[in-house]
Amino acid sequence: MSELAELVPYDEALSRYEPVIGLETHVELGTATKMFCGCPTTFGLEPNSAVCPVCLGLPGSLPVANRAAIEYTIRIGLALNCSIATWCRFARKNYFYPDMPKDFQISQYDEPLCTDGWLDVAVDGQIFRVGIERVHLEEDTGKSLHMGGATGRIHGADYSLVDYNRAGIPLVEVVTKPVAGTGSHAPVLARAYVTELRDLLRALQVSDVRMEEGSLRCDVNTSLAPRGASEWGTRTETKNVNSLRSVERAVRFEIERQAAVLDAGQKVVQETRHFHEDHGNTTPGRSKEEAQDYRYFPEPDLVPVAPDAQWVEQIRASLPELPAARLARLQSQWGLSDLDMSAISNAGALMLVESTVAAGAAPSDARKWWLGELARHANEAGIELSELAVTPAQVARVSELVKAGALNDKLARVVLEAILAGEGEPDAIVEARGLAVVSDDSALVQTVDAVIAANPDVVAKIRAGKTAAVGALLGDVMKATRGRADATRARELILQRLA
Ligand SMILES: [Zn+2]
Repeated sequence: MSELAELVPYDEALSRYEPVIGLETHVELGTATKMFCGCPTTFGLEPNSAVCPVCLGLPGSLPVANRAAIEYTIRIGLALNCSIATWCRFARKNYFYPDMPKDFQISQYDEPLCTDGWLDVAVDGQIFRVGIERVHLEEDTGKSLHMGGATGRIHGADYSLVDYNRAGIPLVEVVTKPVAGTGSHAPVLARAYVTELRDLLRALQVSDVRMEEGSLRCDVNTSLAPRGASEWGTRTETKNVNSLRSVERAVRFEIERQAAVLDAGQKVVQETRHFHEDHGNTTPGRSKEEAQDYRYFPEPDLVPVAPDAQWVEQIRASLPELPAARLARLQSQWGLSDLDMSAISNAGALMLVESTVAAGAAPSDARKWWLGELARHANEAGIELSELAVTPAQVARVSELVKAGALNDKLARVVLEAILAGEGEPDAIVEARGLAVVSDDSALVQTVDAVIAANPDVVAKIRAGKTAAVGALLGDVMKATRGRADATRARELILQRLA
């Protein structure tokens, strides 16, 4: 069946269909050594320099589980309110991959280390409890590099090389239960969940959670069913979703696409799809394997994992302040509303706002700049807020200049733009561009008088009691000073001159 080119507009799709989403997040753990051998996990080493008989899958080699990786996984499970298995086993997942020398991956199947938890996620001031199905531990595969082609993809390549440095890197997979009843919030919730999970993992210090380097990877499941239907629709699994923004876009696109498929009287195909960052769309990959295709069986070369209850309690006691608690603490310190806090959190701006406040800005000002002007720039550039070329200290300084009356909001936006354009520090930009507010009376009075002289009609109105007309004169003063006049002072002067 060929793909439909049409999409149903988002709001229309949601008026007739209800989405169910699910997220599978792969997290590269930050342990010093690999999952089943002592090879280092350092990023960016010479290809095939961090390998040994175990991670190369040579005959006769035997794996030994990494205790730190198990501890990290338990930490994650506890922070996600999961039950920790008292006894569980690794399983062999059998399939062929050129960059997986054993022809099987050691994973966990029906006996995951952590099960049945939840994570609360705030969206638009509303809390959604996302159920966690399981948190399990597995090893990563190697990496194929396709050489000689223009795109780096296998199509058009002359030959491929394999780097086994990644083979055996510990990975944790966090799988949610299906999330239903979200309605139009689904895409934003998906993004907010991954953001919250990322912040949680960062707080737990178990991973560097860099989506752009692949240490946090997300597969997004989406299905659609007619509103009021008793059964859920067929789900697709979208891979390659490598940024928070993409998580939201991928869900949104699948909703619009699946609605078109259902509207055309066709069936949604259960399949793996690929998300394309450049077009914001998904295209079909392979049809989805069933668990039975992998011929799972308990890994005979490893002993079962049986975490001691006392050890688990020690780990629980050592958990740091988790993001939800931190959010609540910061909210009470900052005095911001639920809506403000969830907006900050969903934009991934909590740390940025916190650092900006620490650098001296008022919390409400820090929120305003990051979620207003700067969020707009990030959106336009298609990047995360944290990737903008501006530091919290610079935002705090701009905010300080506004507070001191040296800049107004409009000029502050110009300064921020100049910082993003690489023009340097706020004070230097104000100086170089002559952006400071003109509140010096002698300079302002001249402009005010000129504007009054040029607008006898408006002046007559004001003198007749229509004080609202002052706005028109003020507008001219601002225009004449290219936005640099201190508006409050200019208004006072206009009224004084006309009194
Ligand atoms: Zn090794």
